[in-house]
Amino acid sequence: MRGDVVFIVEHPPTPFGLPPQSLRAGKAVAPLSRVRAFPGDYKRRMRAMVIDGPGPASALHAADLPDPLPAPGEVVVQVRACALNHLDIWTRKGEGGSKPAYPFVLGCDIAGEVADPAGVAGFTAGQRVMLSPGTSCGRCRMCLSGEDNLCPGYRIFGHGRNGGYAERVASPAANVIALPDHVDFVEAAAFPLVYLTAWRMLMVRAALRRDEDVLVWAAGSGVGMAAVQIAKLHGARVIATAGGAAKVEQARALGADHVLDHHAQDVVAEVKRITGKKGVEVVVEHVGAATWERSVLSLAVRGRLVTCGATTGAGGETPLRHVFARHLTLMGSYMGSKADLLEAAPHFFAGRLRPVVHAALPLAEAAAAHETMEASRHFGKIVLRV
Ligand SMILES: [Zn+2]
Repeated sequence: MRGDVVFIVEHPPTPFGLPPQSLRAGKAVAPLSRVRAFPGDYKRRMRAMVIDGPGPASALHAADLPDPLPAPGEVVVQVRACALNHLDIWTRKGEGGSKPAYPFVLGCDIAGEVADPAGVAGFTAGQRVMLSPGTSCGRCRMCLSGEDNLCPGYRIFGHGRNGGYAERVASPAANVIALPDHVDFVEAAAFPLVYLTAWRMLMVRAALRRDEDVLVWAAGSGVGMAAVQIAKLHGARVIATAGGAAKVEQARALGADHVLDHHAQDVVAEVKRITGKKGVEVVVEHVGAATWERSVLSLAVRGRLVTCGATTGAGGETPLRHVFARHLTLMGSYMGSKADLLEAAPHFFAGRLRPVVHAALPLAEAAAAHETMEASRHFGKIVLRV
C-alpha cells in the first residue's frame, strides 16, 4: 500500500467541522471544494466495531468501514488502544443525548500513532499520541476563554462523532497530545476522560486545598480511581468507598487513607467517625440516586459537593435543611477543558498519576467488555487493543 495515491474528497470547513459519518451516511455535502491527491500508506477501508442503532452489548458487531476523512485541520490517527467509559454504554443504548449517524463507532479514550498528518503543520506519520476526548469549535467565547467543554459545538469522540473502536479515527489537531516513548498505549487510553473529569471536579470546580477531607464514591470506577489519586497528589485526606472486600483492598492500594465498603457499612456514620463529627470538605459524586442523599449528609460546614454523573439514576433526595444550615455548595461538572488535561498529563507521564487497567481485550471482544462494565465486575479501566 505504501506509495499508493488515494483520492480524498475534501469538503469546505463548517463552523464545527463536518463529522465524517455524514459523508458515509450519504448526506449532501455540496459544494465540494476540491479533490486532492493524498499519499496513502494506510488502507482505504478499516475494521471497526459498530452499532447500527440503540441496543444491548450484543448489538456491537464487526464492520468494514471507509477510512475516516480528515476535515481541514484534522489528522488521522491509527488507533492502538481505546478505553471504555460509562458514556459508551449510554451512547450504545441511545440514552446519552447523542444522535449518532449509524453505523456508529463508540470509544472516547484513544491512544495510537499519527497515520496521516493530512498536511497539518507539526505532525508526522508515526508520532505516538493520545487524544483529548472533547472537540470544540476553537473560536467561540467559551473556547477562547479556555472553557472549551462548554462550547455549543462540543462533541466527544464515540458520542457526538465517530470514536476509537476502529483502526483509525480523524481528530482535530488541537486534540492531539504527544506521548513520551515510555508510556504504553493501553495506559494512555485509560487516562484522558476520567482524569480530565476528576481533575476538573477537584482542582477547578471544588478548588481542593491541602489537608482537606475528601469522600470519593466507588474508587473502582474510572472517575473514582482518578479522583483518589488526584486528591492524594494534592495533599488531601481521602475516604474512598468500594463494593466488597476485594475492591476495598484495591482502593487502599490506590492510596486512599480510609476505605469503606459501601455495601456493608454506614458511609455517613463512618465519615463522621473518621472526621471527628466534622464531615468532609469535598464529596466527589458520580453515582447519583443510590448515593446522593448520603453525599449531602457527609459534608462538613461549607462543604462542596461536585457531581459529574449519575450512573444509578438521576433522582435522589436532597436534604435541604442540611444544605442551607451547613452553607453547602452543590455543583455540577462535565468533562473538562483541553487545558485541564494538559495540566494533568505531565503527572501521568511522570508516574504520579497511574490509571489502573482492569483488562486489555482485543477490539473484537468489545461486547464482552461492555458486559463486564455494566455488571461492575471491574476495578479500574477496561481497554480495547486495536
Ligand atoms: Zn467553541
